[in-house]
Amino acid sequence: MDDRTGKRIILKAPWFIDATEKGDLLKLGNVEYVLGAEGQNQTGEPNAPEQPDPENVQAFNLCFLLEYIDGENFTIEKPANYDYWSSYTPNISPPWPGPLFSLTYTHPMTLEPRTLPFDPLDQDGWWAYRQVINHNNFETGFYRGPISCINWPQHAYLEGKLVDEPEEVVQHHLKQAAELNMSLIYWLQTEAPRPDGGHGWPGLRLRGDIFDTEHGMAKHAYIREARRIKAKFTVLEQHVGTEARMHETGLSEEEVRAYEFDDSVGIGAYRIDLHPSTKGNNYIDISSLPFQIPLGSLIPQRVRNLLPACKNIGTTHITNGCYRLQPVEWNIGESAGAFAAYCKNNGKEPHQVYDDMESIREFQQALMDLGVRLQWPQDKVHAL
Ligand SMILES: Cc1cc2nc3c(=O)[nH]c(=O)nc-3n(C[C@H](O)[C@H](O)[C@H](O)COP(=O)(O)OP(=O)(O)OC[C@H]3O[C@@H](n4cnc5c(N)ncnc54)[C@H](O)[C@@H]3O)c2cc1C
Repeated sequence: MDDRTGKRIILKAPWFIDATEKGDLLKLGNVEYVLGAEGQNQTGEPNAPEQPDPENVQAFNLCFLLEYIDGENFTIEKPANYDYWSSYTPNISPPWPGPLFSLTYTHPMTLEPRTLPFDPLDQDGWWAYRQVINHNNFETGFYRGPISCINWPQHAYLEGKLVDEPEEVVQHHLKQAAELNMSLIYWLQTEAPRPDGGHGWPGLRLRGDIFDTEHGMAKHAYIREARRIKAKFTVLEQHVGTEARMHETGLSEEEVRAYEFDDSVGIGAYRIDLHPSTKGNNYIDISSLPFQIPLGSLIPQRVRNLLPACKNIGTTHITNGCYRLQPVEWNIGESAGAFAAYCKNNGKEPHQVYDDMESIREFQQALMDLGVRLQWPQDKVHAL
């Protein structure tokens, strides 16, 4: 269904690639997929919850841009639901240190309370974390002050998910997320502690004109966790997590490497970085090793003409935490595109390639010719 026209459209093509934020083509194409957390009883992953829960996904954030103009007052009217959000404390475990609207949050790695300063004139702390504009670099007058893209735990939306929900539920959560944002802005303008002992920064204003949306927020929510294909091969914490690998191999932290995939189609490196989730988990932020992207994680178990090209590959709730990041998703997308081209040019289906080591090697060579790295320098070089 085309959202803009309400018309039903049928697309026919020999190949489909899904790089949507929520894995929408998986649903539309009846591709078997997983959503939410797998259970430890299924994957054996040390950091997985005991039982699977498809409702348990990482919070989304509806990001927005704030500009700061010193000496001016842009204080908005107190939002109707401000009292609710300003006293809101996430119900998660291990416990959040207090109300969400605070400069203190849970340190993702230690899970201890951690306070960062907030000062839009400072080069440190919450503001500088994602400052995107220094107005001094522009002469147009369009920017009158510095601008920061707010993507913080203080407006992580934990009250529900956006994937596999009826449209009215999705719209309800998006509306609530926008209201949460407005309350956070009001809190920053009026109550946030200042380094000089005062409270609030009235010179902050929402730059909704830049996104050009009705509510002034980003056009789309930041989705950390989408539908994932049920793949020929699923990457587990035991393949990439530092401690899990040390446990599996008996090697020390200095010696241990991620599992080497014979069918590697790329590489990535990022901590397993799970944000607080809709079913009550606080951060799960654990060390991982520089890893590879196995071809098997790009191949659906049954469907033969659709490839995933972003965070919708065969990972788990846990390993999504290190495959969902920018350079990794780009590598996945490039390799998925190259794979479709390889299959088309050679008259082969993805499953046929996957079942034949010679074809895998030929495809890996094609990737290397394109400049895609298949292994980290420190990995043991296998016969590619
Ligand atoms: C607010 C925010 C903060 C982030 N922070 C970080 C961070 O700190 N560090 C980090 O590493 N990563 C971060 N990420 C993740 C990072 O931005 C993404 O991993 C990256 O943008 C993915 O790039 P991509 O080109 O694969 O996909 P995208 O940028 O999503 O591009 C895919 C494009 O393909 C289109 N598309 C998809 N399927 C189809 C189809 N079937 N037909 C036609 N078009 C299609 C989509 O509409 C889209 O335009 C963040 C993301 C957001 C939104």
